[in-house]
Amino acid sequence: MPTIQDIMQTMEYGPAPEGTAEVTAWLAAHPVIPHYINGKFPKPEGPLAEVLNPATDAVLAQVALGTEAEVEAATRAARAAFPKWSALPGHARAQYLYALARHIQKRERFLSVLETMDNGKTIRESRDIDLPLVARHFYHHAGWAELLETEFPAHQPLGVCGQIIPWNFPLLMLAWKLAPALAAGNTVVLKPADLTPLSAFAFAQICVEVGLPPGVVNIVQGDGATGARIAGHPQIDKLAFTGSTEVGRILRRQTAGSGKKLSLELGGKSPFIVFEDADLDAAVEGVVDAIWFNQGEVCCAGSRILVQEGVAPRFFAKLTARMQTLRVGDPLDKTMDVGAIVSRKQLARIDALLQQGVAEGATFHRAPAALPAQGAFCTPGFFTGTAPAHTVSQTEIFGPVATTLTFRTPDEAVTLANDSRYGLSASIWSENVTRVIDIAAKVKAGVVWINATNLFDAGAPFGGFRESGFGREGGRAGMLEYLAPKARPGKPRPAPALPLTVAPCPDAATRPAIDITAKLYIGGKQARADSGQSYTVLGRAGAIGQAALANRKDARNAVEAAAKASGWGGITAHNRAQVLYFLAENLAQRRDEVTAALAATGASPKPEAELDASLRRIFWYAAQADKFDGAVTATKSNHVTLTVNEPFGTLAVICPDEAPLLSLLSLILPALAMGNRVVAVAAQSHPLIAAKLYQVLETSDLPAGVVNLLTGERDALAKTLAEHDDVAALWYHGSPDGVALVESSSAGNLKPVWAEGTLRDWLDPAQGQGADFLRRATQIKTIWLPYGA
Ligand code: NDP
Repeated sequence: MPTIQDIMQTMEYGPAPEGTAEVTAWLAAHPVIPHYINGKFPKPEGPLAEVLNPATDAVLAQVALGTEAEVEAATRAARAAFPKWSALPGHARAQYLYALARHIQKRERFLSVLETMDNGKTIRESRDIDLPLVARHFYHHAGWAELLETEFPAHQPLGVCGQIIPWNFPLLMLAWKLAPALAAGNTVVLKPADLTPLSAFAFAQICVEVGLPPGVVNIVQGDGATGARIAGHPQIDKLAFTGSTEVGRILRRQTAGSGKKLSLELGGKSPFIVFEDADLDAAVEGVVDAIWFNQGEVCCAGSRILVQEGVAPRFFAKLTARMQTLRVGDPLDKTMDVGAIVSRKQLARIDALLQQGVAEGATFHRAPAALPAQGAFCTPGFFTGTAPAHTVSQTEIFGPVATTLTFRTPDEAVTLANDSRYGLSASIWSENVTRVIDIAAKVKAGVVWINATNLFDAGAPFGGFRESGFGREGGRAGMLEYLAPKARPGKPRPAPALPLTVAPCPDAATRPAIDITAKLYIGGKQARADSGQSYTVLGRAGAIGQAALANRKDARNAVEAAAKASGWGGITAHNRAQVLYFLAENLAQRRDEVTAALAATGASPKPEAELDASLRRIFWYAAQADKFDGAVTATKSNHVTLTVNEPFGTLAVICPDEAPLLSLLSLILPALAMGNRVVAVAAQSHPLIAAKLYQVLETSDLPAGVVNLLTGERDALAKTLAEHDDVAALWYHGSPDGVALVESSSAGNLKPVWAEGTLRDWLDPAQGQGADFLRRATQIKTIWLPYGA
């Protein structure tokens, strides 16, 4: 045994193991991890799977794999518990959430050790990061429960929520999902990952301890098949998922047309950008927290390090030096930096990607740390010599390995940062405040950390852009994922008649004087349909004209035109408001002509009233352009945490047949006010009104390509737009069948889709306008700025 004098000489770490006696006794008492259904722990009916400690390969327990009958029982219990739970005053639910937080805090040590043994993460992280955040989440949401009636008036809970969580932060993901759902008054059926079921069972025991009413929380253990059963169950009203983008896509397709609200928190390949004026030592420590934290098994890990060329050699030298001191080993040892990978399967997946990186020509720099002889351990490190197109630069490795690239200019850094199908997070390192703010605005990421990384808080919305998913967890935005505006009566919308009566576009020279043929409006110009065809439009008194029959090519052209008009998102909100006011002025000048056109459709019972409502709607959204702004969120660390409402880019809008002018304006205005460009498909049965609108647009100051109008078969165009990768979000107001079609067609790039198959009264401002439209026209970017530290 070394003497103190020896230790003072070498400064070697001694062993510092955390005790496991309490957890070992608990495991001995629970050799089978059961489900938690209706407040009880019934004997599992289905097969069992082994739960291993990935650091030792020891079997910790067996876990039940939920059967169809068990999912059914859990869902039934949640449904039965919903009326009472949702009817409780917010204060009563706040007390339960507060009790959960308190009991979790009292068990922090037990739960930290349990989590570490189950997942392989270091005790330092489960004790100092996971558990405090878990408790914070329940406290924060106890607050939302308390304030529900005043902060979310005219909102109601959704019903029964299905929640499927991954293995990388088992208890934290459970807290992220359960706390807002319960605070809002929903009941839950939750499935943990089969690799890490233990802390969810311990949490279920806490639910019993605090006297949570039976059925409010149900936990069905199991694998992907159990998850699929929950996702497909007809009694689930909302599905919340965290995991891989591949499974996210499956769930998008599986829930299409079911009416289930969906939120997806998926993978990432997040940039970690180091400018030459950064504090390099701080940035190196940042890398430790970005990619070696939690063994790199973090969806928002800073896994793509981008370094400005001038400092790259110095930065890599410092990073290599820092790597020498990384300690990899027994995760229960309090001095370890990196623990075990969650399973041998995940380790093999990481190894395969490492080999692929080397095969593609990159160099792997590995930490010199010796790995334990037993268990699923992986050497942390980083690649140099990677190119943007390499597999390891594009694919989520989900292990302790970063790729690196260099850049010369800030613009190049932004291009590289955004060269990914994902958009979860970004870290930006620079001492130049102008630069960091500029780059924060340009990166496509739902969370941006300035001179920091991997910061989380229950009050700060977390979630992705692009294929990293949609929906936010945490804060006010996270609560809204578990609430809906109070129900309005809305009958299913009938699908318009098909097939359309198609004829060649009449030639101007031969058409009769009264004939009206509406063209498409693309890139600020009237355009003939690619097919050269038009369709007959019926009005109050028979055929009233023809409209261009747009096809896939026209839809693609419109998206391209919208992409070119990206300057719209960059102009000030004040200027956007001015353009919208001018639009109202021009529409008012054409009052007689437009009301006559509305009257001719036969679809507008009160054309004057529809026009007046349209003018008011333009004013309302012009007013909102500079008022629907973000917030500064109170997080628990020394940061100003901004939540900024950013436009998506190109938003596709598919319009219904009712109130053809007002519904079209009600859908494009919020998108425009928030800085999006729009590709709109006008009412299939009443498309001529689109022609009236583009005549107004032509005389307004709207830049070319900001609004593009298509006419034709609604669902066919909707499908093309839903599948288009450059359409960032889509709104569909059509038939219930169309809802299913666009939701499943959007699974490719996982764009957020707002699809509604029920009628709205567009003349009623409570239904036809509001903050809900503006929220749907934006995606939150959460920016963490150091402040007052
Ligand atoms: P998955 O996406 O497969 O697992 C996440 C959760 O979904 C688990 O509870 C899983 O169950 C469940 N699940 C799997 N298939 C289905 C299905 N068809 N329907 C419903 N639920 C399902 O992730 P993996 O565990 O396979 O990890 C693979 C990769 O995914 C990782 O290497 C990483 O790249 C990424 N990942 C990303 C995470 C993130 O936080 N964004 C988290 C985890 C993984 P079970 O595990 O029990 O089979």
